[in-house]
Amino acid sequence: MIINVSGISQGTTRLAGQLAARDLQLDSRGVRLISPVSIDAKIVKMGLDVYVDAAIDAVMELECSRCLERFTWQLRSRLQALYVPAAEKGVHSTADGECSCYHENTIDLAENIRILIASELPRKPLCRDDCPGLCPRCGKPLSDGPCLCPPPETGYRPFDGLKLE
Ligand SMILES: [Zn+2]
Ligand SMILES: [Zn+2]
Repeated sequence: MIINVSGISQGTTRLAGQLAARDLQLDSRGVRLISPVSIDAKIVKMGLDVYVDAAIDAVMELECSRCLERFTWQLRSRLQALYVPAAEKGVHSTADGECSCYHENTIDLAENIRILIASELPRKPLCRDDCPGLCPRCGKPLSDGPCLCPPPETGYRPFDGLKLE
């Protein structure tokens, strides 16, 4: 999503837009974007500085780190960034953590949104919190119910010798 700085007036402007998967280059490491990322931004222009406060929504498909099933995951986040003209910061720095620079009157939100989404992705995605994972012997997903493997050996079996008359 591109903001043309000279095209917006001083003060607050609202802008809504979308980013497609190809704009973000996120489709790696088992992550897939199902819907475009939707952006609802409040933009405050003060002189040449532009403050962006945007709600970010996306539906993604991730791979469960236990059972390897794919599942949908809803991302809701918020981008808050101050953009200043590049000349004020020197040409070589593009982002220093406090503010980002823009060039030639053009702010492209994609880079900061890509960083934001990458930081929000779960390190160990789980299809559900109590996902039982895969059977270590046959590899069957245990979320479908128990597999046919014998139960694991345990040292304590108080009822094994019990006979019902
Ligand atoms: Zn799972
Ligand atoms: Zn099994």
